[in-house]
Amino acid sequence: MDTVLGIDIGATGIKGALVDIASGELASERIKYPTPKPATPAAMIATARQIVVDHDWIGKPVGIGFPAIIKRGVSCSASNIDKAWIGYDAQAAFSAAFETEEVVLINDADAAGLAEMCHGYGVDRDGVVILITIGTGLGSAVFNDGVLVPNTELGHLHYKQGVYENYAANSVREEKDLKWKDWAKHLDHYLNHLNFLFSPDLILLGGGVSKKFHKYEDYLTAATEITPAKLRNNAGIAGAAMAIHRVIAGRS
Ligand code: BGC
Repeated sequence: MDTVLGIDIGATGIKGALVDIASGELASERIKYPTPKPATPAAMIATARQIVVDHDWIGKPVGIGFPAIIKRGVSCSASNIDKAWIGYDAQAAFSAAFETEEVVLINDADAAGLAEMCHGYGVDRDGVVILITIGTGLGSAVFNDGVLVPNTELGHLHYKQGVYENYAANSVREEKDLKWKDWAKHLDHYLNHLNFLFSPDLILLGGGVSKKFHKYEDYLTAATEITPAKLRNNAGIAGAAMAIHRVIAGRS
């Protein structure tokens, strides 16, 4: 069995597990720690290293999904994490902490999207597919005929006094204790906007609230197929593992 460690780093939690690449299933118990506050590079890397140690995986390949724009291993944004991550060579730092060159870092929503395209409702779906992860932030992954356009950051399209993430993220619903209907009107506006901009054939909704889809699906009006993601909470871990596996497979 081809197995590697996937770590999904979020603004709220850092979780990891071994992943069976062929099936996308977790091959070990998932371990989760709260994201340190403040979410500085040193603190977050130490937490991620603990997950590697917990799996007895020091020196072995690790894929990481990370909640920021990632260009060639460098984190280039920091919406919900410490600003010290901006311009930081994150991949090199994780690599040093995990004592291996075989570390790959990609955006967390892109990781979830990869998993969903290979093992979820994106399988065999051509055309434009958009996965939106709804959590602390609003992440996006865009695919055309199965090929990812990385780092799309569609949660940062401007809306009202800020960006859609400030209104349609699940953290906003929780913090403001919004009724599903009141929160969903922002999500609906967002999905209509995405539908107009990209004419997607399918929009998948991921993140924790995907399992509560029945509570707000009636408020969603965009004229395209909208469905909750299949892989739910473990998509980020699975996709991160797939990303490092692809890099290694590409070398041999
Ligand atoms: C970040 C994205 C990330 C998303 C989900 C946003 O705030 O800008 O890079 O994918 O949150 O974590």
